[in-house]
Amino acid sequence: MVLASNLGYPRLGEKREWKFTLEKFWRHDIDEVAFEDRTKTIRLAALKKQQAAGVDIIPVADYSNYDHVLDTAVAFNAIPARFGQFDQKLTLTEYFAIARGTKAQVAAEMTKWFNTNYHYIVPELDYVTFRLLDNPWLARYQEAKAELGIEGKPVILGPVTFLKLAKLQDAHLSYEALIDHLNQLLPLYQTVVKQLAAAGCQWIQLDEPSLVTLTDATELKLYRQALAAIRAAAPEVKVELQTYFERPDFLADILNFDVDALGFDFVRDHGTLLPELKTLGFPEDKILAAGIIDGRNVWRSDFNQKTALIDDLLTIVSEDRLWLQPSNSLLHVPITTRNETHLDPVIKAGIAFADEKLEELNVLTAYANGEDVRSAITAQNEALAALNQSEHRNNPEVKAAVDAVMCRPTERNSVYADRVRAQKVLNLPLLPTTTIGSFPQSKLVRQKRAAWRKHELTDAQYQQFIESETKRWIEIQEDLKLDVLVHGEFERTDMVEYFGQKLSGFYATENGWVQSYGSRGVRPPLIFGDVIWHEPITVTDTAYAQSLTKRPVKGMLTSAVTIINWSFVRDDLPKNVVANQIGLALRHEVQALEAAGIKIIQVDEPALREGLPLKAQYRQAYLDNAVKAFKITTTGVADSTQIHTHMCYSDFEDILPTISALDADVISIETSRSHGESIKAFETGTYDKQIGLGVYDIHSPRVPSVEEIKQNINRALQVIDVHQFWINPDCGLKTRNEPEAIEALAHMVQATDEVRASI
Ligand code: GLN
Ligand code: ZN
Repeated sequence: MVLASNLGYPRLGEKREWKFTLEKFWRHDIDEVAFEDRTKTIRLAALKKQQAAGVDIIPVADYSNYDHVLDTAVAFNAIPARFGQFDQKLTLTEYFAIARGTKAQVAAEMTKWFNTNYHYIVPELDYVTFRLLDNPWLARYQEAKAELGIEGKPVILGPVTFLKLAKLQDAHLSYEALIDHLNQLLPLYQTVVKQLAAAGCQWIQLDEPSLVTLTDATELKLYRQALAAIRAAAPEVKVELQTYFERPDFLADILNFDVDALGFDFVRDHGTLLPELKTLGFPEDKILAAGIIDGRNVWRSDFNQKTALIDDLLTIVSEDRLWLQPSNSLLHVPITTRNETHLDPVIKAGIAFADEKLEELNVLTAYANGEDVRSAITAQNEALAALNQSEHRNNPEVKAAVDAVMCRPTERNSVYADRVRAQKVLNLPLLPTTTIGSFPQSKLVRQKRAAWRKHELTDAQYQQFIESETKRWIEIQEDLKLDVLVHGEFERTDMVEYFGQKLSGFYATENGWVQSYGSRGVRPPLIFGDVIWHEPITVTDTAYAQSLTKRPVKGMLTSAVTIINWSFVRDDLPKNVVANQIGLALRHEVQALEAAGIKIIQVDEPALREGLPLKAQYRQAYLDNAVKAFKITTTGVADSTQIHTHMCYSDFEDILPTISALDADVISIETSRSHGESIKAFETGTYDKQIGLGVYDIHSPRVPSVEEIKQNINRALQVIDVHQFWINPDCGLKTRNEPEAIEALAHMVQATDEVRASI
């Protein structure tokens, strides 16, 4: 029998019950007992759903009260000293203090989980002595068994990946430190599996996704050592070694690991895994756990392709040694399409969230077992064909326009040196001051938007409110004597959603929530069809702002690649084609802004870096495509129009050539959190355009002093020519409150004046 297995289920709850439970506890609306009670109900509901969907091998302990990496850290006492010393399982309050910080304690650092938009808590290992404080895997295993009779498969984050995600003295562990910590950690993993074995646990899923980024064969021995220790501690517990988001290299070595099942991602393997497995032969003593349903995107599987893949897989393993599963934990997709009530039925029939993916898994497993599932396959084929052939996806004008732009060079009319001369008309002072785009989204702004959505405000009333906020902030910016102003982005909840609402080809889901970090969810839009620009999107608001001032107002757009990285993108076209469609739509917007008299246009690219492929060999193509889409958007303007871009991260040394290739006249980059580290990248002097390295951190409510900002400016001026440098905060000010934002900007302008005076 081929079995259906799952790797993890979303935590949020169909109605986001989990999120609300956490937040109620944080607000002290419910106590620990009620919290445990409610989260147990949520967990069991998820397990029951999987059981009902016919999943044979159901994951447990994929659930978390916040984040699974944090759970692993607190189980092993890998707790930063500032949160105290512990000799037993943490209370909920102690646990959440690490995740969220308290008045007195800075929260642990959070960062993106591989190339996803899920954020995990980074384990800090300074002064840590590993000790087993808790065995959550055992508790969840026992709960599923006792309550539902489910023989669950505890999901355990593998020790090597855990250590590779961790930090010691603010840096990733050296190879020596890895070995050293692994030796200390393995006895604890041994205890965990021993306790599981004693409780009767039959399988564990050991997640080692770091294997897919491994480039150094010597490190294979760390994984081998970990597996040997776990095996020795509990030979009766079977181990599924799970990888995802890419395929691992060193396949021949991995096939020989001492495990019972090997889990691979057949969706993000570039089609290379199966041919290689056919050549190498799959070992007869193992189960192949094949991730064949896309766990990162939301389109229905092409059953013709999947059944062909299953046929192929059955040529390398026998039926009793094949598991079918999603390519990764379903944590990364929303729960169900059932609650999408407004969606065009053709699109709805073409999408699958977690629950629908489990239905697909059921059909495909039945197929693999020789059952007659022809009617299900036919129905799905028809649904996909209807979507693919719909007018949404076959606009000949879009295709022709993209084809045309793909084969012609997209460059500005003149090189940068000539553009700089043309842009002198902007009349900007030395060290121009500006901001990144958004101003505080105050309670009032959110209230008005909510009222407008509920039709308590008319469109005209809402627009009037947006204009009054814009006007107020233009005056504030003039008082502050900023040189380049912005309209403030009061009309946008989210920089991607906003454009998604205005361009065709996008759909904003009603309930398609995906966990981003902790209780926070995001609703990535669906890019289901051809992207078309119909009419100006930002021109009214921007031109209105410009009409109020003699200083230049920057137009503000979100670039194609960032839109793509924060959306669920149709998968019937290569991503770069979709990027070029969006790039082209935005090109119209850029030209419309220019025609309306806007002289400076910023095209934000905050998510460029996070979409970088996990494997080095695919990165250049990704970056080239990003540059292409950006240039499609930005090159259709006169030399005198100044193009800006903004990026939200500090480690960009490796993508500096790309940053330069974007050929933006000015780029602003987050810097202050990296303590000036990123400035080093510019020491070589190869960056010839203008740049604003954020001179203060906007993520903290603390207002920086004039002196501190001056130091940051002066440090930057040691490596960057004063004529190239701009002064701006790290990022948009949307999350700050008004007094903080104004005071910090006043300090920024004063610091600039003082530096100017000293030159
Ligand atoms: N212009 C956007 C803002 O200021 C940029 C946001 C971002 O970089 N994430 O809000
Ligand atoms: Zn930013």
